[in-house]
Amino acid sequence: MDTVSDRHLKVTVMTTEDGRAIRYDSDGRKLCAGIVKHTGQPCMLPAMSKQDVCQHHGGKSSGPKRAARLKLLDLIEPALATLAREMASTTNKPADRIRAAENILDRAGVSRVHTIETDDARALLMMKIEEARAQAEQTVQDMSKELESNEQAGEAAEEAAADRERE
Ligand SMILES: [Zn+2]
Repeated sequence: MDTVSDRHLKVTVMTTEDGRAIRYDSDGRKLCAGIVKHTGQPCMLPAMSKQDVCQHHGGKSSGPKRAARLKLLDLIEPALATLAREMASTTNKPADRIRAAENILDRAGVSRVHTIETDDARALLMMKIEEARAQAEQTVQDMSKELESNEQAGEAAEEAAADRERE
């Protein structure tokens, strides 16, 4: 067992049977087996529990977590499909269908607050549609008035022309 002095802490190096050097700090914590790239020195951070390296040197492997997450993602679609079927099924009780719909909204990240906002948005949209409809109606009225006056003007012109012919 060698003892190596470091700037800040005393490091104890123990060599395993298979020849690996494992360093421990003065508190007996196993140190990271990684090398700090820009200094080329061994990493002085404690290794993550049950691992040989710190989180900067791959101790916090995201591989398994990522795999688990992907597996869950795979299940989201069928789960949503089940809920959607539940929601759409007319043989279900309304309360069950509503619960399924709420579940879908929850899973989709649409909170109850958002639902209110959606209602607001719908009301706003209805207002806009109503406005547009009224505007269109007004435009149609204006156009027919214009056509009417054009027609009257045309008739007047025709009459005037007929009068001239008679003269
Ligand atoms: Zn490290």
